[in-house]
Amino acid sequence: MKKDIIIAGGGAAGAMAAWFAVEKGFDVSLVEMKERGQYHPCSGVYPLHSLRGFPPLPDSVFERDMVTMRVMSPTNDALIDAREFKTTLGKIILRSRFDNYMIDVAEKKGAEIRDRTRITKIEVKPDQVSVHVKDSNDAESIISGDILFLATGTSGLHFHDQLGIEKPHLVQTVIGEFECTEDHIEHALSSGAYHYYVNKKITGIGPFWITCRKDTFNAGIIDYKVTKERFVEAMQKDPRVKSLFAGSKEKVWPGQKSAYTTTLIPCAPIKTPYSNRLLVLGDAAGLAQAFYYEGVWEARESAKYAVDTITRLREEHKAPTADNLADYKKSLARNLVNKFLRSGRKNSWLFWQAQPDETLWYYFCDAMQKNKDLRALIVKCFEADYATSDVDLDFKAGELIFQSIPMLRKVLYAPHFLKAGSIK
Ligand SMILES: Cc1cc2nc3c(=O)[nH]c(=O)nc-3n(C[C@H](O)[C@H](O)[C@H](O)COP(=O)(O)OP(=O)(O)OC[C@H]3O[C@@H](n4cnc5c(N)ncnc54)[C@H](O)[C@@H]3O)c2cc1C
Repeated sequence: MKKDIIIAGGGAAGAMAAWFAVEKGFDVSLVEMKERGQYHPCSGVYPLHSLRGFPPLPDSVFERDMVTMRVMSPTNDALIDAREFKTTLGKIILRSRFDNYMIDVAEKKGAEIRDRTRITKIEVKPDQVSVHVKDSNDAESIISGDILFLATGTSGLHFHDQLGIEKPHLVQTVIGEFECTEDHIEHALSSGAYHYYVNKKITGIGPFWITCRKDTFNAGIIDYKVTKERFVEAMQKDPRVKSLFAGSKEKVWPGQKSAYTTTLIPCAPIKTPYSNRLLVLGDAAGLAQAFYYEGVWEARESAKYAVDTITRLREEHKAPTADNLADYKKSLARNLVNKFLRSGRKNSWLFWQAQPDETLWYYFCDAMQKNKDLRALIVKCFEADYATSDVDLDFKAGELIFQSIPMLRKVLYAPHFLKAGSIK
């Protein structure tokens, strides 16, 4: 039986695509190599804006409200508490639970879910796509369909070679899982704060983070090259960071071999996320930014635009040729790449790549401590839809941070802010 859509990968992008596609009446088969509910390395930050434009999710898929964010530099520290503005920053998710919920919904609505099934080969032919799979009993079969959604994240990049498409640029990350008491989360971890610690001696590209779940938290680093040993060393180096781990224990979730996972995060979108009978979704298309590092929302957004694109083709009786699928790239550019991901690139440059130390991040923390308007603006950034907002939040925040820099130093840093477009 030929399917309308074959979805390779049942992570955030694939699961959401299956859900949306069956709702539009497509005959869908989703293939995922893992068992449902297995650990998926992800910190779990799910900002408020990510909830908009998707079907509501029950409270049971969320670990906790994210109400605080602590930003730290080697010599500075500030806390944003969204309760100061009677709101939250978003939610925290555990991916095994979150993805599982989406897969279950898609299945109930009629999608065929083949989990514990590994894709071994993908062929795109002029008249169909063929996906070769091997299930948990090593039984091999071929699924054929009209179009393929490639949503295999960063763990299926060999398919890019097989299909002759560009791979996204990547950085490495180590994530460690820990258990602790709620009391530790409340007091040592500032009411479940999402800690964002920027220190060039520790990482070369992204933050050192801590994100609290329920009775557990995860921590990690992002860099061009990371190791578990470097991460453990980073945990011990700064007494303030070390104290955040005091009394906690390593935790191993179902599907994990150890409490530490080394994996990859994309840092730039690929140029052509489509070809004949093929759309590339989520991390496989490079739709995340290492400095902001959230990618679950981008993955789910890409699922929405992929399904919208092929729904339009069906209505217009058009074939899924590369030319006809090119609208998908335009939707990604308009809604993700040109605004939100660009903001990530700009801020990554300004606070990270532009200077040899973390002075500008120090001033960011400083301004955050002292200026309620900046805190309000940062809280707004978690809620804003960058694609539709007329307000340039980065520019407004940039101005407030720049104001906090001592007069003599302003001369030194003005070119950076000007280049990032954060002041005029
Ligand atoms: C350490 C870390 C921390 C992160 N923190 C955050 C965060 O706080 N917030 C946030 O929003 N994002 C975060 N991200 C990014 C986020 O996890 C990804 O952007 C998101 O998972 C992308 O979804 P996806 O569906 O494209 O890929 P994935 O979720 O990776 O899904 C791909 C799926 O394809 C399956 N697959 C691969 N190969 C095959 C095959 N051969 N056969 C069958 N199935 C296959 C995999 O098993 C996987 O389930 C983090 C990422 C990492 C690594």
